[in-house]
Amino acid sequence: MAEQITENTGNDLAALSDPWDREHLWHPYTSTINPLPTYKVTSASGVRLKLSDGRELIDGMSSWWCVIHGYNNPEINRAAKEQIDRMAHVMFGGLTHEPAIELGKLLLETAPPSMHNIFYADSGSVAVEVAMKMAVQAAIARSGSHEKTNFVTIRRGYHGDTWNAMSVCDPVTGMHTAFGTSLPIRFFVDAPSVKFGEEWNPEAMNELETVIREHHHELAALILEPVVQGAGGMRFYHPQFLVEARRLCDRYGLYLIFDEIATGFWRTGKRWAWEWAGVEPDIMCIGKGLTAGYMTMSAVMTTKDVADTISGGEAGVMMHGPTFMANPLACAIAVASLRLLNSQDMAARVAHIESMLKKLLMPAAEIKGVREVRVLGSIGVIELDSPVDMASFQRRCVEEGIWVRPFGKLAYVMPPYIISDDDLTELCVKMVGIIGENSHES
Ligand SMILES: *Cc1c(COP(=O)(O)O)cnc(C)c1O
Repeated sequence: MAEQITENTGNDLAALSDPWDREHLWHPYTSTINPLPTYKVTSASGVRLKLSDGRELIDGMSSWWCVIHGYNNPEINRAAKEQIDRMAHVMFGGLTHEPAIELGKLLLETAPPSMHNIFYADSGSVAVEVAMKMAVQAAIARSGSHEKTNFVTIRRGYHGDTWNAMSVCDPVTGMHTAFGTSLPIRFFVDAPSVKFGEEWNPEAMNELETVIREHHHELAALILEPVVQGAGGMRFYHPQFLVEARRLCDRYGLYLIFDEIATGFWRTGKRWAWEWAGVEPDIMCIGKGLTAGYMTMSAVMTTKDVADTISGGEAGVMMHGPTFMANPLACAIAVASLRLLNSQDMAARVAHIESMLKKLLMPAAEIKGVREVRVLGSIGVIELDSPVDMASFQRRCVEEGIWVRPFGKLAYVMPPYIISDDDLTELCVKMVGIIGENSHES
């Protein structure tokens, strides 16, 4: 997850932070000279995180999108324990196992209909690497040209922290400048200008069309997050953009990659965000919610056409194969999580969360310094005029008994789907209250 680094302005609740940790452990996007405070969690259950002083926090983050069923879920725990007693791991080279097969079947049952082949990978970032490698291998094989290897994407995206994933993150808010000339140079067009729910304007495609028309001979694929741009700015855009993007990709011979790592598994109100537009990608990345936050695992799905094109190309194989590929424990856990999702009316569940978020967060729109409040599915975002002071905001959240981690100008919640109405109300009312306090101070 990309975050903006903010100043460390205090270390209250100091008893909760561990001095050894502070001295030696790197946390995401933190300085070793001036690390932000961290709070020690000793256990978690449902939507509650328990801290080392016994205090409990209502989790608004699903631990960065992934803990969709809440913590310590009995059914997933059982699946994990059963699998661990059978085998925790076995290599996937030359061997296979029931959890991998079962998971694959469950995924393909609900994936875009044209998806046919699945590649299991280790994390979201690695899934993006694999998807980009697939696109390049297939584009070279299909066109016979070694030039057709670059990518076009939209600004404000976030696709992960590894090398190629970073190269397609937003070049300004992303990590480009810190790495100088070492990143591959991609084609960027402006983020989709028509917001979700606004009236579509065909001119929104002009820039993408121009870039693709002028550079298609060197482009393997267009990669983007469908409908919701997550860590690059929590923006919701018009699904028609995807319909038009599909058309451009078909016309100019580009593959279309949907990064559904954040949007998948019902987060936007549909099982997958592509369903808002009804157009299918050639390659799709999933991660985060896949194992309900239990294990690190991701997957890349693609069409038979892409898979067979790669296999008919120069290398004759898909050139990737991680050590922990299709880890049985992770697969068994993902199977249990998917079965839980399939046993519920998730569309109704997320619609209910959405209507509550709208009601509970809208009062924030009246606060001075709040630019916009927006809600889609179980994602609620409050965008401010200026960056949130992370350390003091989080200290206030912990004091109030909620867990929200802002980044940049954004304070947002995407709670586990099991959250009760009372907990969701408390979470939102307190977050809005803390934002209100900050507006008085400034
Ligand atoms: C989080 C995220 C990634 C990266 O996943 P990791 O598991 O953190 O490597 C990639 N793409 C999107 C859209 C994400 O939200």
